[in-house]
Amino acid sequence: EKKPYLFYHPKMGKPNNFFIMELELKKAIKEEQFELYYQPLISVSSSKLVGFEALIRWNHPTEGLISPVKFIPLAEQTGLIQDIGNIVFKKACMQLRKWKDKGFNNINISVNISMNQFRNQLLVENIREILQETNVNPYDIGIELTESSLIDNMEETTLKLHELKNLGLSIAIDDFGTGYSSLGYLIDFPIQRIKIDRTFTKVIGKNEKIKAIVSAINTMAETMDIEVVAEGIETEEQFYLMQKLNCNVVQGFLFDKPLPIEEVERKWLIFRE
Ligand code: C2E
Ligand code: MG
Ligand code: MG
Ligand code: MG
Repeated sequence: EKKPYLFYHPKMGKPNNFFIMELELKKAIKEEQFELYYQPLISVSSSKLVGFEALIRWNHPTEGLISPVKFIPLAEQTGLIQDIGNIVFKKACMQLRKWKDKGFNNINISVNISMNQFRNQLLVENIREILQETNVNPYDIGIELTESSLIDNMEETTLKLHELKNLGLSIAIDDFGTGYSSLGYLIDFPIQRIKIDRTFTKVIGKNEKIKAIVSAINTMAETMDIEVVAEGIETEEQFYLMQKLNCNVVQGFLFDKPLPIEEVERKWLIFRE
């Protein structure tokens, strides 16, 4: 028997106000309380916007905006991630369709796929259907997977990644370097992008060993024709160091935080002469 997961929200004060999150999450799916925010990714060589990472927010009617860190783990545990994952993928595709139709031709969107969503047998079929339905070019959509989603069952994983790649999607390893997994998978997995985790970016200025690791990652990636994204850039110093170490793309609060659609359009999707 599954018990509801009780989520205590400090704002609510008394423990009798425990927030019954599993039920709330089901309701959120039915009532479409999810919204995607978009964070810009910038090319280091051209300084131009290359696209956005889509990041889910739960717009709860009384709690306000809830971070994915607070509900994705529960969604994973309860299986609700399948529905939520499909909602996210579809929203991102529909948004990209709209932006392309407005004439922003060179942008792509990447979407996070969590472990249990990746392992679901229906993933490839669901993605294929949504791509068809929304009429977006799969080459403009990326998916982000963490190392931990990929480590067990190498054969099945490799096969699935190739299926996704064959649909046209580009595949990124998210939070690269934090998963304690072997680099060997880079040989067999069809990967286009590595995202260096913020834990590295955070200390890049004061840690020579981390600099050496990032530099080695970039050398390796270049040989393998893999693009490297430095995540979590907050300061100019971090940006210049990541640039010096040959990262291709940057993302972080220095450029902008994840933004709702209207703000993305106002701040980033403007035509320049
Ligand atoms: P992630 O995919 O590694 O996303 C990057 C996180 O770092 C985002 O947090 C983003 O807001 C934050 N971030 C970006 N730049 C900076 C910076 O310069 N400084 C700091 N301190 N943080 C920065 P967010 O949006 O809270 O998402 C957290 C995690 O939740 C994501 O990590 C991802 O693993 C998961 N997530 C978010 N959206 C989705 C989704 O639609 N589906 C799934 N399955 N997971 C999602
Ligand atoms: Mg990500
Ligand atoms: Mg990341
Ligand atoms: Mg990260």
